[in-house]
Amino acid sequence: MKPHNFSIEFFPPKTPEGVEKLRITRARLAELGPKYFSVTFGAGGSTQQGTLDTVLEIMGEGHAAAPHLSCLGSSRAALRDILNEYKSHGITRLVALRGDLPSGYGAMDAASSEFRYANELVEFIRQETGEWFHIEVGAYPEMHPQAKSPQDDVRHFAAKVQAGANAAITQYFYNADAYFSFVEDSQKLGVNIPIVPGIMPITNYSQLMRFSDMCGTEIPRWIRLKLASYGDDAESIRAFGLDVVTQLCEQLLEGGAPGLHFYTLNQPAATLAIWQRLTT
Ligand code: FAD
Repeated sequence: MKPHNFSIEFFPPKTPEGVEKLRITRARLAELGPKYFSVTFGAGGSTQQGTLDTVLEIMGEGHAAAPHLSCLGSSRAALRDILNEYKSHGITRLVALRGDLPSGYGAMDAASSEFRYANELVEFIRQETGEWFHIEVGAYPEMHPQAKSPQDDVRHFAAKVQAGANAAITQYFYNADAYFSFVEDSQKLGVNIPIVPGIMPITNYSQLMRFSDMCGTEIPRWIRLKLASYGDDAESIRAFGLDVVTQLCEQLLEGGAPGLHFYTLNQPAATLAIWQRLTT
């Protein structure tokens, strides 16, 4: 089942070798015809130039690209400059996030930030640039780890939409029911923008566990046990991960998900393999 709307996420490479490798990755994934590529933005603007350079390179190759932009720890003046720079390059799509402060910054720093939540960033972008940008925001079917309750979290999500978001991309998850329930709860609050599931291919057990602990994604017990049972057998992990994630994508698309957003971690193989399964 081919999704008609899908996007692909990269992070900005830090080394010349990484830049070269990403060019090759991108060329392979571009053949699938994604709607756009998105490029992450490091906490506190740490990858600001790398994000812009990667986005401009993608646009130069003739593809649509969206920089991510996070606000925690950044000033209004700094964000205004970034928005103006993006506009001057003809960038019209953004993924707007609160971001997380790098470890070492305390709760005090977060509290004194000019922006505290993503809805404030969306509001600011609309105030500064009107309807210039198509704005995507983050959504958390299994609840953002810092939220007080799922109800609170979905209300905060709705506030981002009211502030002017056009669409949302979710955190990755492996429970399709959590996604459908989140979409339903959002709709009850009047949200009617597309909520695109974020898809994380499974290729490495320890890395998956580490990421998932950080971002609050649950790895269902049966998946965890199976992955653990493969030990160092990378081939079995990849094959099982491909089955699990392809089935998840099918379930989501059959249930009405408006598209898919692939977290590639700059590696093409797993996304290509899922895509091939979905389309044959
Ligand atoms: P928010 O929507 O602001 O929510 C953060 C927390 O605050 C939630 O618990 C929410 O319930 C709560 N909250 C919101 N509003 C209020 C309020 N008014 N009062 C009280 N509580 C409130 N991070 C990066 O640094 N760079 C990236 O490029 C990046 N890309 C991402 C892409 C996607 C698709 C997703 C889903 C996440 C991405 N992240 C990125 C991670 C993201 O920055 C973190 O998950 C961050 O902790 C939350 O960002 P948010 O925009 O969802 O925050």
